[in-house]
Amino acid sequence: MYSRRLNNLCCTIINNKKYLHTSTKLNKREHPLWRTIRILGEDLQFKKRLSPVTSEDYALAISREFPRHADIVIVGGGAIGSSIAYWIKTKSNFDGVKVVVLDKDPTYTKCSTAISMGCLKQQFTLPENVQMACYGAEFLRQLKKNFGMEANVNFNPAGCLLLASDEGAQQLIDNSQFQREYGAINMILSPEQLTKRFPYLDVSDVAVGSLGLEREGWFNAWDMLKYFRRKSIELGAQYLNAEAVDFIFEEREDILVDGVQEATYRGTNEIVVKLPQESETRSIKFAFCIIAAGHESTNVGHLAGIGIQPGMLSVPLPIEKRKRFVYSFNCEDHPPSINSPMIEDYTGINFRREGLGGSFIVGAAPHPDFTPPSESEEDKLKFFNDMVLPCLSRRVPSFKDVKLTGSWSGDYDYNNFDGNGIVGPHPYFINMYLATGFSDKGIQQAPAVGRAVSEMILDGGFKTIDLTRLSFNRFIVDKPMFDVRVT
Ligand SMILES: Cc1cc2nc3c(=O)[nH]c(=O)nc-3n(C[C@H](O)[C@H](O)[C@H](O)COP(=O)(O)OP(=O)(O)OC[C@H]3O[C@@H](n4cnc5c(N)ncnc54)[C@H](O)[C@@H]3O)c2cc1C
Repeated sequence: MYSRRLNNLCCTIINNKKYLHTSTKLNKREHPLWRTIRILGEDLQFKKRLSPVTSEDYALAISREFPRHADIVIVGGGAIGSSIAYWIKTKSNFDGVKVVVLDKDPTYTKCSTAISMGCLKQQFTLPENVQMACYGAEFLRQLKKNFGMEANVNFNPAGCLLLASDEGAQQLIDNSQFQREYGAINMILSPEQLTKRFPYLDVSDVAVGSLGLEREGWFNAWDMLKYFRRKSIELGAQYLNAEAVDFIFEEREDILVDGVQEATYRGTNEIVVKLPQESETRSIKFAFCIIAAGHESTNVGHLAGIGIQPGMLSVPLPIEKRKRFVYSFNCEDHPPSINSPMIEDYTGINFRREGLGGSFIVGAAPHPDFTPPSESEEDKLKFFNDMVLPCLSRRVPSFKDVKLTGSWSGDYDYNNFDGNGIVGPHPYFINMYLATGFSDKGIQQAPAVGRAVSEMILDGGFKTIDLTRLSFNRFIVDKPMFDVRVT
């Protein structure tokens, strides 16, 4: 190795290679090359300080690198898929497990999460549902600890009031007692007590009400999805704008599965995806795949043969799209007071305040036996005037002349077997899990479901809330897990 001076630069030669650098001792006038690098370097640093890399930029950056393999592929990046990604990354110490979340629509325009009313209540009759809702509230309480001090999903703990007719009264009373045994805090109110507490309600046709006193209310579902997604990305999960279009199968004579004839198991550890603007498909190898595709989960199941192949695979995922309509309106004349809870009426509508003024939203699902109206503005308005407004103004007379300010509609992931979520492994595949079909409870259950799936995969079984009864097996043995609704 030796050095020699070239004008203001020093040239050091090591193993016959030249390395240029400035000589600190001899450099009086800066060489133009170093000057350019110095100025350019400062400029780049300056720009970086002005626009720090956000999680979304980070996602975009890492999404450009196509993942050929992953430990866990999650199909669907809505509230459920993103909560699973968050929990797996949190539990696996950030870098331990490679998680890829596939979503065909990064704008989330058609997903249920983006249009959800964000209601959180414990008033169910299936212990699993009560426990998951209790945990949902606990998770919201810990929101800042989990997502950072700026995190806020505007949880409004105003409670939830269920109203029953004569027919459903005893059921509501029994339900309330049952829920309290599982940690819910609620009270039964007679029509007189209801009128005293909520004078704006007409309860002449109501036999009894059940009011959730703690951990019930509503929050912004879209914000919750954003926090799950952002944190998962920060912890290293990769979100890929891609549609799952197929699986690649392999005969695996070496694998024995309960209920499957020896040497006939056809497994998969590779998913085929279609990226936007690419005509060819690509594939990702995985150790585990989780189907969390909301109301499209049955279609994704078909790709894996679920519901269309013989034997154990002949049992379909019973998830169908169910339409739900939401309307926003203003009530200027004597609106319900600021502490009004979310009200679930036995007539099938539910409504709540939206903000602190006289704005409200009301949700309604058309009866399953009727063809739902189309999503045209005209049909939506007709449905509101014919079906929703009569129930609304019957319950709150001051809603008679409300001013409609907007409406939206969309599908949710209705489980037509028993109306409850499906969580856990598919009994045929050794490496495929399901987290879907939560019907009208998916947002409040998302934190608990994400945690439960992460426990199944990383700990080998449920550690906190036991969701074994919500597995796919109940369809095979024909054992519905109904939640008794009040009429
Ligand atoms: C109007 C309305 C009001 C509601 N109100 C409430 C409420 O008050 N409280 C409550 O708890 N729940 C409520 N729900 C239900 C709740 O919103 C859903 O249960 C929940 O959002 C489901 O979340 P998800 O992640 O499973 O599905 P989604 O949010 O639908 O996400 C699924 C994702 O999968 C993606 N996907 C689908 N197929 C593929 C594929 N082949 N490849 C890649 N990606 C794919 C989709 O693009 C989508 O982004 C409501 C639903 C609606 C529609």
